[in-house]
Amino acid sequence: MASFQKFLHVGIALDPIHVGTGGARIGRVDLTIVRDPVTRVPKIPGSSLAGVYRTYVAMAETEANPNRMVNGRDWPCYPHCAGLGQARDNYLGHCGQPDCPVCTVFGFARGKDQAGGFAGLAAFTDAHVLLFPVPTRRGPHWVTCPMALQLVGLEVKEVHENAVYWKDGSPDRPLNLGWLLLPVKKCESYGSIQSNLQDLCVPGYILDRLAILPDHLFIHVVNSNLEVRTSVSINPETGAAEEKALFSYEALPGTTVLVWEVITKNPRHFKIGGQDVNVTLSSGQKMDDPNKVLEVTKQAHPYLEHLGVGGMGTRGMGRLKVLCSKQQDVQGEAVSCQGKPGQPEAKPEREVNHESAS
Ligand SMILES: [Zn+2]
Repeated sequence: MASFQKFLHVGIALDPIHVGTGGARIGRVDLTIVRDPVTRVPKIPGSSLAGVYRTYVAMAETEANPNRMVNGRDWPCYPHCAGLGQARDNYLGHCGQPDCPVCTVFGFARGKDQAGGFAGLAAFTDAHVLLFPVPTRRGPHWVTCPMALQLVGLEVKEVHENAVYWKDGSPDRPLNLGWLLLPVKKCESYGSIQSNLQDLCVPGYILDRLAILPDHLFIHVVNSNLEVRTSVSINPETGAAEEKALFSYEALPGTTVLVWEVITKNPRHFKIGGQDVNVTLSSGQKMDDPNKVLEVTKQAHPYLEHLGVGGMGTRGMGRLKVLCSKQQDVQGEAVSCQGKPGQPEAKPEREVNHESAS
């Protein structure tokens, strides 16, 4: 059995998603979201993903086992094994037990008798934008680019001019993406990109409306079409708007499709406090290989879909539905789809560069 496995995850924002930077004011928006420092495309940091996965797995484990005891004390996984590890008041902190699904998979800040910690068996990459919704005069379209498609193992080389690449070319009928008007060119790889994204369980209404842009225009279009909302604080005494309490915040719009990886390690290669990792899954099986570590993390997915990720959750933001969780070999080639049952297996042919294919 491998020492580790990589799993590609594709998810769709059911609401706008706001993962904030902590309140720096840049330009017209008060509360900005996290961006990649090189591309300037908004993303969800892996640390944010790991945090919500941990919390939601702890919730799931506590629903299944509410009377959990450690060394004779009540120690339910939630809230103690979620969140920060240090004990305070009524919060016991991470249990750090070799049979704890939360502390073994997500790590803990200290071991038995305060002797060190454990890094955890699952690692999370940042979630990047794969498909981004934009209004056009032909209805909403989802833009992507070669840089984004590379994240799912697709090589597209023909898209480089200042144009929107579509299923048909129509040089005399330009298309607007937001306020940007661009000539339309035919993308020879369009069908191949569609079928590869279909294998990743991307919904059909999005596949029919793909618009492929060169990387530099994708960055521009995404940043020009983020959702920006304005809110005001209400004075609880008067019920009226508070003076000088107007603020604006930006978010990835609903139906943005995101992609991230979860890398899981082999539990047999690790010891916690000198003992083997000894976690029993809800199925009754032992967590003894990287695939079963993934099973623990996947318990978070229904919670992500309903409780969401990031801030402004009380303002209708954050819900993220996982569409697909797909194992990749170490070269990044997809080997099997664990999305919806009945989905076709990934095609071994991942190259969609028309020029080299013809
Ligand atoms: Zn624990």
